[in-house]
Amino acid sequence: MKKFQGTDFVHLDGLLTEEEVMVRDSLRAWVEDRVIPVVDRLYQEDEFPLEWRTELAELGVLGAGIQGYGGGGLSNVCRGLMYQELERGDSGLRSFASVMNGLVMYPIERYGTREQKERWLPALVRGEKVGCYGLTEPDYGSNPGGLLTRAERVGDGWLLNGTKRWITNGSISDVAVVWARTAEGIRGFLVETDTEGFSAPRIEQKWSLRASVTSELILEDCLVPEDALLPGTEVGLGAALSCLNQARYGIAWGAVGVMMACYEEALEYVLTRRQFDDRPLASHQLVQKRLSHMLTELTKAQLLVLRIGRLKDEGRATHAHISMAKRNNCYHALDIARTARDMLGASGITHEYQCGRHMLNMESVITYEGAHDVHHLILGHEITGIPAYRPPRE
Ligand SMILES: Cc1cc2nc3c(=O)[nH]c(=O)nc-3n(C[C@H](O)[C@H](O)[C@H](O)COP(=O)(O)OP(=O)(O)OC[C@H]3O[C@@H](n4cnc5c(N)ncnc54)[C@H](O)[C@@H]3O)c2cc1C
Repeated sequence: MKKFQGTDFVHLDGLLTEEEVMVRDSLRAWVEDRVIPVVDRLYQEDEFPLEWRTELAELGVLGAGIQGYGGGGLSNVCRGLMYQELERGDSGLRSFASVMNGLVMYPIERYGTREQKERWLPALVRGEKVGCYGLTEPDYGSNPGGLLTRAERVGDGWLLNGTKRWITNGSISDVAVVWARTAEGIRGFLVETDTEGFSAPRIEQKWSLRASVTSELILEDCLVPEDALLPGTEVGLGAALSCLNQARYGIAWGAVGVMMACYEEALEYVLTRRQFDDRPLASHQLVQKRLSHMLTELTKAQLLVLRIGRLKDEGRATHAHISMAKRNNCYHALDIARTARDMLGASGITHEYQCGRHMLNMESVITYEGAHDVHHLILGHEITGIPAYRPPRE
């Protein structure tokens, strides 16, 4: 049986354009060649290899959706397929790309001045600069509207004070998109990480997403110039949430990559592993039921992201569509990874197989960018018109 075949049970390839297939296949080949052979060691050593950023730039991943400034201007479906393939390798790799594209370049492109775009976008697209996105705080995760980081006007600049937590790429970034409360309300700022008063200590000893850098951002009397403000960000959380929408879209596709990797690994294992009367595990009814469930959920997840990708390309995808896909696909990716781990028996707990790593990674992915139950509340709000979470303070 061919390894890593890229499960496509209902022939979705027939719905993709030539460009989409080409983009998907070039990422698939790169992940097979450059990521799969080393990612287990990187995971064990708690390392994200920064040299990958140059290769991601050459592959057109960085800035894939940016128009101009060296960006690829690719469709949302193309971008989704890229994330799918990256996360078949590892969620940490997809996280790096999601943050760079959806949480750093997107706000600069959408809310920045021409000078800010010229200064940052080409360098980010080429992978010469790295960025991070600081919204979450120690006391405000699911409810970022309560954030405490402050930005006060002083002379012709802004004085920032506060702490951000769980920030992907924090310690390796050149620029941080920081959300802070001003006298008027919450606004976004571009903070250069070599500014006095800024530090980004790394959060060590994670069980999950180990091949990814996670950090605190500490802002202590951090003085930034007037033009650090992203002027297009309206007062309030709307702009911050619009960035999350971009990243959540990519996560929903990435989760499909995890499902493929784990389903294919489990299938290959049960076809060869023999138990009871020297029959392959795959010949037992309960094992087939599990394979059938995995393939069905994987196929439904693929259909959901492809449809939402097409809607997004037509400008018709809503935050509720994306929220549904993020929650559903992460939930089933975690379930499939756990099932695969179990189907491999004792082998499933070793580093020889990848389902254990994907399973642990998905524990982060199901939590970040809106935890699983918070997405139920977002959809519940959409369905009923009644917000069940407490509204933000402003
Ligand atoms: C590896 C990693 C990387 C991250 N990267 C970034 C980043 O780059 N930038 C950034 O800003 N943030 C980042 N985050 C933070 C992430 O977005 C938050 O962890 C997430 O929003 C959840 O917040 P919390 O951890 O404070 O959990 P909490 O908000 O404390 O939630 C804990 C639990 O309570 C539940 N819950 C919360 N509110 C309700 C409610 N009203 N009703 C019912 N249940 C509720 C949640 O579903 C969850 O199960 C990252 C997190 C991780 C783990």
